[in-house]
Order: sequence, then structure tokens, then C-alpha cells
Amino acid sequence: MNGKTVMACIDAARASLEAHADEIASLDQAIGDGDHIINLLRGMDALAALRAQIEAEAFAPALKLAAAKVLSTVGGSSGPLFFSMLTGIAKASSGDADDAGVAAFARAFAAGVEAVGQRGKTGTGSKTMMDVLIPVAGRFTAMADAGASKKEVLDELPRVAEENMLATRDMLATKGRASFLGERSRGHIDPGARSSQLMIAAVCAQIARDDA
Ligand code: ADP
Ligand code: MG
Repeated sequence: MNGKTVMACIDAARASLEAHADEIASLDQAIGDGDHIINLLRGMDALAALRAQIEAEAFAPALKLAAAKVLSTVGGSSGPLFFSMLTGIAKASSGDADDAGVAAFARAFAAGVEAVGQRGKTGTGSKTMMDVLIPVAGRFTAMADAGASKKEVLDELPRVAEENMLATRDMLATKGRASFLGERSRGHIDPGARSSQLMIAAVCAQIARDDA
């Protein structure tokens, strides 16, 4: 894992978001203000423009560079949250993260999710991206503790993300703009849960391809 891996994962995440742009726009139009996908794609464009710098870095500094760009371009509620995610992962990655194994990466991912929780002041059950991120981090850590292989983890995490993304449909939103709708927030998948799930799936597929 190095800056080239980080950039390849960003490219994969961006392609998946672009392919689902209309759907994510509709979800945020239903329970938010409709800008979530625009915010994210603006960030992805800015990251693509940083390609040479990101690719030249080691893993943690590449993530920090990307995080700073996300903070200054994405905006909305989700910009600072994704910034916290990336810096949280970077800070928890040891100096030799370029060769990190499953256990080290599981710890770093969990630290990233923890940082999002501190920033957004919420856990599971409030119909946000946390409803995807926390179960994925939990399963990742549990699998790492049980000695799972990288391939097993890359197969399993997208499934956990999808199942938990779908579960946001029936939840009542208690955080973010969607909470203003009260009961009317039910019946719609949370846009941040959907975008996070898509990015997790895309990144897992990218890393699996890299390894093949
Ligand atoms: P905004 O709501 O400011 O327009 P975005 O549209 O970019 O921001 O992002 C909306 C998404 O942000 C929501 O779908 C939800 O998943 C996520 N979100 C909002 N508030 C929080 C929070 N406090 N903690 C975690 N995620 C949140
Ligand atoms: Mg919005």
C-alpha cells in the first residue's frame, strides 16, 4: 500500500460514484438538500488533479494529502467527516504501513471510523454513513483477530456494507438534515450510507484486483 494504491482506490471510488450519481442525487433530494453527490464528485475531481503528488507519497502522507483536499473541496456535512476518516486512518498507520497486513489495516480503519464518530458525534442508529462504517469496522477487526486472509476480508466487507446500507431505509434520521423530516425520513436509504457503501465496495474490488 502506497500513494499509487491510494490513487487507484480514489479512481475506483470515483468511477463507482459517477456510475451511481443519479441514484445518490435522488436519495439526498428525498431526505437532504440534494448536494451530496455534487459535493463528493467535486472532491474527486480535486483529488484527480493531485494525482502526481498523491502517487509520489507513501501510504499515510498520501492519505493526509487527500484528506486536506477533501476538507477544502467537498463541503457539506460529509466533507469534514470524510476528512476525519482519512486522517484517522493515516494517523493510525505505522511508519511501515506500505507493507501493513490485515490486522494493522483493520486497526487503522477502525481508528478512521472512530474519528468520524467523534467529529459527527454519532454512532449507529441515527441513519447516517456511520450505520455502514461502524459495522464494517467491527467485522474487519473481528476477522483480523480471527486471522482471516486479505482475500476473505475483501470478499466479506462489501457484503457487510451493503446489508447495513440497506438497513438505513427503515431508520428514523436523528442526525444531519434528514433529521428535520422526522418520520418522513423513513423509507429512504441514507445518501451518505449509500456513498460510503459504494466506496467501500469499489476500494475492496480495487485492492483485490491489485493483488490478483
Ligand atoms: P449536507 O447534509 O450538509 O448537505 P452532504 O449532503 O454532503 O451534507 O452529506 C449528507 C450525509 O452526511 C448524510 O446522508 C449522512 O450520511 C451524513 N451525515 C450527516 N450528519 C452526520 C453526522 N453527524 N455523523 C455522520 N454522518 C453524518
Ligand atoms: Mg446534502
